[in-house]
Amino acid sequence: MTHTSALDAVDSEIADLIHSEEARQADTIRLIASENYVSKAVLEATGTVLTNKYSEGYPGKRYYEGQQFIDPIEQLAIDRAKSVFGVDHANVQPYSGSPANLAIYLAFLKPGDTVLGMALPMGGHLTHGWSVSATGTWFNPVRYGVRQDTGRVDMDEVREIALRERPKLIFSGGTAIPRTIDFPAFAEIAREVGAVLVADIAHIAGLIAGGAHPSPVGHADVISTTTHKTLRGPRGAMLMSNEEHAKAIDKAVFPGLQGGPHNHTTAAIAVALKEASQPEFRTYAQQVVSNAQALGEELASRGFDLVSGGTDNHLLLIDLTSKGVSGKVAAKALDAAGIETNYNTVPFDPRKPFDPSGLRLGAAAITSRGLGVEEAKAVGGWMDEVVTAVAKGDADATIAKVRAEVSALTGKFPTPGLD
Ligand SMILES: *Cc1c(COP(=O)(O)O)cnc(C)c1O
Repeated sequence: MTHTSALDAVDSEIADLIHSEEARQADTIRLIASENYVSKAVLEATGTVLTNKYSEGYPGKRYYEGQQFIDPIEQLAIDRAKSVFGVDHANVQPYSGSPANLAIYLAFLKPGDTVLGMALPMGGHLTHGWSVSATGTWFNPVRYGVRQDTGRVDMDEVREIALRERPKLIFSGGTAIPRTIDFPAFAEIAREVGAVLVADIAHIAGLIAGGAHPSPVGHADVISTTTHKTLRGPRGAMLMSNEEHAKAIDKAVFPGLQGGPHNHTTAAIAVALKEASQPEFRTYAQQVVSNAQALGEELASRGFDLVSGGTDNHLLLIDLTSKGVSGKVAAKALDAAGIETNYNTVPFDPRKPFDPSGLRLGAAAITSRGLGVEEAKAVGGWMDEVVTAVAKGDADATIAKVRAEVSALTGKFPTPGLD
């Protein structure tokens, strides 16, 4: 358990809820593709006196005094980001992935300009110009998707749309893409139409840092990433680029969009990047992919329909239509059994986004926990038992049985970050 004696004394209501969440995270199999377990070191850095300090500006150019220790902390985070990803420039201040992406619009577009991104129901992110997002209302969004027969992005189609619509900004990457992103092909299209190319690697940053997915460096003009998904850092984000775009990005983040950076988060990002530069992180990244593939193979062998037929990364998108259960019903039953997922639209989904046909799974958190291919396959088997029972309309006994098996398994693997 984390050490929270002051919190216990001051606010037992919140303390109890945090302890319950700790226990929940320890006793469940967490397959949410955007989640992970940070290390104890990262967790410690986030809970420090750095939260007391205001630091508007950048290292060496601040609007407040008392930056003797903040400047070197932020500089270390910047230098480590540059080294881990091999970029000229890194801004570690964005509060999260969505504001980081908004800063890119502010840096390169005027309201009404055209942005090309992947459609949300196809695997894109809200901030890539989806209609309910500010990015889809203040700008002119045009969209690409995946092919119905392959479940993969068709680069010829992306090129056709780009030539027709002439976007100023193109987003590559997304939030439910189980396949390798072809950054060189996107770069060629962006060059052809004179667009700025963004690689949004929020999901796959840890795989890229660990050498398990090709890097967008040298292809994308700007790289946007969260720090809390496969990269396994605190909740935050970074924008990276070559020298040419460095000034525009820094100006857009501060003072364009944000005030003071969250220094406790910056410190924790620096720690996470140090961890990501170690040889063990490469092992982790490869294991994430192996675990996702093992889980996918187990599910496919049990009649589950995987969008695109499998995965190249940490993520699986499953169309449950063949199982006769909706994504939401399956996700709720699995959660009751101790297996945490999220319901998700699948490409060309005939159902509504709030009760779609699919489930999204990711293997980062279970890998950080130490689970391997054998355990990933066991999890696939349990998922099948639960989903099959739910489809038959009588799942209570199965859920109880799987819940006990999940607890027995998680009991064997210590929770990262906790003693
Ligand atoms: C998660 C994600 C984001 C947004 O991150 P938040 O920190 O949730 O705002 C942006 N882009 C992609 C592709 C993502 O997966």
